[in-house]
Amino acid sequence: MTIVVFGSVVQDLISYTPRFPRPGESVCGTSFLAGPGGKGANQAVAAAKLGANVEIIARVGSDIFGEANIKSLNEANVGTKSVQKVEQCSTATATITVSEEGENSIVVVLGANEKMSAEVAKSCREQIGKATLLMCQNEVPQCGNRTALQMAREQNVTTFYNPAPGNSSLEKSILALVDIVCTNENEAEFLTDIKAETVESAFKAAEKMLEMGPHTAIVTLGPKGVILARKNEKTVHIPVLKVTAVDTTGAGDCFCGSLAYFLTKMKDLPVEEAVKRASIIAAHCVTRKGTQASYRSREELEQLDK
Ligand code: ADP
Repeated sequence: MTIVVFGSVVQDLISYTPRFPRPGESVCGTSFLAGPGGKGANQAVAAAKLGANVEIIARVGSDIFGEANIKSLNEANVGTKSVQKVEQCSTATATITVSEEGENSIVVVLGANEKMSAEVAKSCREQIGKATLLMCQNEVPQCGNRTALQMAREQNVTTFYNPAPGNSSLEKSILALVDIVCTNENEAEFLTDIKAETVESAFKAAEKMLEMGPHTAIVTLGPKGVILARKNEKTVHIPVLKVTAVDTTGAGDCFCGSLAYFLTKMKDLPVEEAVKRASIIAAHCVTRKGTQASYRSREELEQLDK
């Protein structure tokens, strides 16, 4: 019952500033935060915090960030035997500047994530074959994802794909290798050319994704709820818990990781119920600042229920 994530590790470096500097200018920021991130790592941590058995296949640089990110994955109980340090390469970084208005500007350097090649996926064939679920996202090269998904397919492992961050260069044919696709409204639009901003249009986008390969397609719409479409089933809209959002960073990753936990650990749970529970857990995470730090463990969630 293992989830294997083939994905990214990114060091987030966040500076808070009264305003953005102009080119050539320095401004004095108010505070600084560094934290572990990357969609692969975030999803792995979200699932592991709930109690799933999770392993991540990833690459980091031979620098202090690589070491720190491996340590934090281990602290969250994510298996890192397939996280390798790449010599002469930096760990991926996201240098984020957040202004007082809450706007952000981000420079991402993919660094070691770019080494997540088809060869890396092939070298982990046996590990993928032992998984119950393989999870992929978009912060690593598409050829790596495609090969990892193929390895899973060949060995009857369920495949879960979160095509985030969305981009127009995505080869849509990759969906033929996917069982469960989970997108937000933007990613759904990249895949289907349907603007999925409303519940009605997200229904159409989710159903269009089903025609591209997956048996299950999910579109998350932030506070507007989640659309769940399944082959030969009626598409449904699942409303989300009402909360006061303070930081929505990483909410989509929390949703994906939590859903993976329910799908692998509670196999008898109806998929609609699994989606509902994942959306509640993701709603809780937006009430706290930070990314992985905002994900609650099973024990913390049980306390919230009391
Ligand atoms: P992404 O972070 O990928 O853009 P969403 O914004 O759709 O994805 O958020 C993913 C999930 O996080 C939602 O399905 C929901 O469960 C939760 N969520 C996000 N924003 C809110 C919010 N403002 N209120 C309640 N839940 C939220």
